[in-house]
Amino acid sequence: VSPSRSAVALTWVVRCATCGYETAPEELRWRCACSGLLDLYGPAIDPTPKAGAPWSLWRYGAALAPVALQGAGKVTMGEGMSPLVPAPADRSVGTSTRVWLKLDYLMPTLSFKDRGAAVLIAAAAARGVARLVADSSGNAGHAVAAYAARAGIGAEVFVPKGTSASKVAAMRRFGADVRVVDGSRQDAAVAAMQRVEETDAFYASHVYQPLFVHGTKTFAYEVWEQSAGRFPATVVIGCGNGTLLLGAARGFASLAQAGLIDRVPKLVAVQSERCAPLLGRTPHGRTAAEGIAIASPPRRDQIVEAVRSSSGEIITAAEADLLPARRELAAYGIDVEPTASAVWAAFGAWARRPEAFEEGPVVVALCGAGAKSPGDLPRLS
Ligand SMILES: [Zn+2]
Repeated sequence: VSPSRSAVALTWVVRCATCGYETAPEELRWRCACSGLLDLYGPAIDPTPKAGAPWSLWRYGAALAPVALQGAGKVTMGEGMSPLVPAPADRSVGTSTRVWLKLDYLMPTLSFKDRGAAVLIAAAAARGVARLVADSSGNAGHAVAAYAARAGIGAEVFVPKGTSASKVAAMRRFGADVRVVDGSRQDAAVAAMQRVEETDAFYASHVYQPLFVHGTKTFAYEVWEQSAGRFPATVVIGCGNGTLLLGAARGFASLAQAGLIDRVPKLVAVQSERCAPLLGRTPHGRTAAEGIAIASPPRRDQIVEAVRSSSGEIITAAEADLLPARRELAAYGIDVEPTASAVWAAFGAWARRPEAFEEGPVVVALCGAGAKSPGDLPRLS
């Protein structure tokens, strides 16, 4: 077993996927000196909440790194605990329900990114961080700005030109210094990294920081706790940088290690047909599903491996299906942003196959609220 494959450690440790270098989570490192990706490993802990546990993702505190727990009280806004409801075609709660929607946009800043931001910023607060730098195409910056404000940490967020005005305005309301970079999403990341080098500020990257993915693993714990007796065979998740998918994979793996589930669900990753680097395709044109429009995700290989090892698959959403999917969900009271509409659209095609539900129920993650994207679909210039 190579160092990067062994998920269980004796104690909490951050390990480089390339060279095996190890450091403590308290160091808050975002990248190895060898430029390798860092991942957080810990003991196989049963995350079952104790009586009286908080009504938030912190209820799984036993399975979270101590450095994050130390700062939880400074940041928590009740993040996590998103509802799991039957999908339109099923519409009634029961053991025969085949499709469940995890409304992971019901969070303080209306996206699942609050899971990672809360845990990462809690750790930063515990370590006395005064200033942070982040980069984002929208939702992660929104979440980091909110939790930085909550923790009293100064935030500087680099966003690419074209980031939706409402998300930029929200970051500024939280007091973040928003820098609009005249370039691509990647250019915004490069600008942020340069700023980190110049200023020695904390890099609150949702892509690189292992504590961010550590926070999103609570998605899996919630699905487990919410679906007693009807645990999903398949979980469908939108995938750009893979922040939620990698966390979910970690969470399900740790549930299996703790003996709480028999097998890890199949992970189905959804990309836009216009931006599907996980399938080895060159992006072409713009997509309204901005949250998953990542041309070259740094954790690409990890995402592909997580999908493969779960016997899952990577599917795509056609651009023309985004608006009909958004309207279909809205017709049942569920309003999501175009990125989540893409997940529903791709799932629709996948679910029409006869064998789709042979192995059991499916959970579809809906990760961003409709309020983040007013109107039908943003106009792509
Ligand atoms: Zn390394």
